[in-house]
Amino acid sequence: MLGYNDMDKPRILKDSDAAKLVAGLRKAYPKAKYYLDFKTPIDLMVAAIMSAQTRDETVNRITPALFSKYRTAKDYASANADALVDDIRSVSFAGNKAKNIIAACKMVQGQYGGKVPRSMEQLAELPGIGRKTANTILINAYGIVEGIPVDTWVIKLSYRLGLSPNKDPDKIEADLKGIVPKDGWHNFAYVLKTHGKTLCKDVPICSRCPVNSICPKNGVTEKI
Ligand code: SF4
Repeated sequence: MLGYNDMDKPRILKDSDAAKLVAGLRKAYPKAKYYLDFKTPIDLMVAAIMSAQTRDETVNRITPALFSKYRTAKDYASANADALVDDIRSVSFAGNKAKNIIAACKMVQGQYGGKVPRSMEQLAELPGIGRKTANTILINAYGIVEGIPVDTWVIKLSYRLGLSPNKDPDKIEADLKGIVPKDGWHNFAYVLKTHGKTLCKDVPICSRCPVNSICPKNGVTEKI
């Protein structure tokens, strides 16, 4: 697992360079998109809850069978907890996540007529769902773009690339919203994640990087 090197102070880019770097990354990964499979808002909500500290591939491997068995919020709300834990046992913290899925779906069923809500405030009140997941659901289920989901990759790369000096997700989101043009908010998290998985890894491959002429960490060797 990557972590911050606290001895490594981020060099914050000036605004014009940050804009160029963001434009370069968006150009390099124009097709970057959300990485979990889903068909309905309830599928997405459940997949997103399961994805915390779990590989996307693991979530995508178990969701076809899960989504066939449980199709609606009511199905999850009335699920046997032990059976649901067993159904999602490949993900980390399966017990806790099953509990959150059932509790969130009970709220969705009881308060919103079985429909995943479409507002940040309502989503963020659901168990297992914070601002990142709420943003993810709004963008990918409903096309409502209020912010930028800040996941682990966004935290790591925003810091490394000098786009934000912060480590708090809400502050990072605010910093990014000031740099990324609004028409790029919907997938900038996925642009960064794709870049992190392909080039800007734990030990980055800077020589092949499309933004290495602007990046303040070009040639970095220490972990983030
Ligand atoms: S130059 Fe290196 S550290 Fe900077 S964004 Fe590219 S791969 Fe990452």
